[in-house]
Amino acid sequence: MPERWDVIVAGGGTAGLAAARSASKEGGKVLLLELRAHLGPPAHSGSLVSSDAGILVKRAVAQRLREIKLHAPHRELTVDYDRGMIVDLGRIDEILAAEVAENGGEIWLNAPVKSLLMEDGVVRGVHIEAGGWSENIRGEVVVDATGARGDMSCLFLSEVLRKGWKREFLAFYNEYLMVNASDEKSAEVFFDSYLAPGGHAWVYPLTKGLAVSGICGLRIHPDAALDEFLGRREIKRLTRAVPIAASRGQLPLEGPLSQTCGDGILAAGGAAGQIYPLSGQGLQYSLRCGEIAGRVAVDAITEGDVSKERLSEYDRVWRSEFGRDFEIGKVIYSSLSVSRDQKMDALAAVLDGRPGLQRAFVDLFLGFNLASSARTLLKDEEISKIFGGEVIKLFNQR
Ligand SMILES: Cc1cc2nc3c(=O)[nH]c(=O)nc-3n(C[C@H](O)[C@H](O)[C@H](O)COP(=O)(O)OP(=O)(O)OC[C@H]3O[C@@H](n4cnc5c(N)ncnc54)[C@H](O)[C@@H]3O)c2cc1C
Repeated sequence: MPERWDVIVAGGGTAGLAAARSASKEGGKVLLLELRAHLGPPAHSGSLVSSDAGILVKRAVAQRLREIKLHAPHRELTVDYDRGMIVDLGRIDEILAAEVAENGGEIWLNAPVKSLLMEDGVVRGVHIEAGGWSENIRGEVVVDATGARGDMSCLFLSEVLRKGWKREFLAFYNEYLMVNASDEKSAEVFFDSYLAPGGHAWVYPLTKGLAVSGICGLRIHPDAALDEFLGRREIKRLTRAVPIAASRGQLPLEGPLSQTCGDGILAAGGAAGQIYPLSGQGLQYSLRCGEIAGRVAVDAITEGDVSKERLSEYDRVWRSEFGRDFEIGKVIYSSLSVSRDQKMDALAAVLDGRPGLQRAFVDLFLGFNLASSARTLLKDEEISKIFGGEVIKLFNQR
């Protein structure tokens, strides 16, 4: 084992694996530390992503969608939509981990990072602790990819920025993997404050007989919300289905951190708040931002300068690719949070019988083709009114 690593990645989710893959591909000596006994989700898990997603994501497709059913509180729409696919998250993690290993990177499981090693405000490595074992591990750059799902996560936020997420934007979620679901090629999304205050619930088809059902919202019970949703809302494909794996956690919907690097450290993925607020999508951002973080870390080490200033290249690059997405997502999310049920019903009424606008709305909700779908929708006067002045202002600025 090297005495000093080039890049230490804390967290073995998508962002961490993507960072470890790109840093090891660039020739860095990379160590990835994962607190759990396994990488990836506890069992198969599905994520809805754009069919424009890169080749890696396409290798993990579980289901190509034909339609998406949108359920507003008092109206329902079935949208012909073939731009989305459900990918097997575990498969993506396997592919990434294999490449890390192929490039000579190391992955340690059951290795929780307890804290950052700091010297004069500069991050010099991490401290890990598990059971009776504890160790300081030194590295040139630490990538915080611990996600935003629990007490152990968000090292950069808590230890470098010395902050927490804004509670009013911290959504909880529950998700089940369910067996014995009847097979359908559609995804369903439910917008209803009675079921998911400040958020939404969903059902995605996975592979044969498997489906994912989840809920994400503000002020929901982090354990009971999904059972309540499934109890209150009859979903035909799940009538005889039962959960075999559950996950719970939190998603910061306030938009990304205003700063994602410090001296000797970068934050990527959920830990950096790189989550599209309107729908909670984050996979594509985690993959790409992790990749940029790994590359910038190795370049900076090669140049012998891991200062915040040098590492801020990471911040600039990801913001130039995605900064606008998060800005749009946040403003629309905030606008739709006020009188949410009425607005979702009104939107469903305007979209009824207008397939082009329906697809634009699904694109906007999922963060695909964002700027153009928002423009298409805002051309309609009724929709502009529903979205409100802040959203219109954002688009008139450019
Ligand atoms: C219920 C739900 C559904 C979602 N659905 C979608 C979707 O359909 N499409 C989409 O694009 N996005 C979706 N997202 C968002 C997407 O999953 C996240 O944006 C993405 O997983 C973030 O990846 P990450 O690697 O940053 O964090 P995570 O996936 O949370 O990974 C963080 C990893 O770090 C580990 N860790 C934490 N603390 C420590 C520590 N101290 N030391 C070592 N390891 C640590 C964790 O165990 C975990 O393995 C969803 C999110 C949720 C919560």
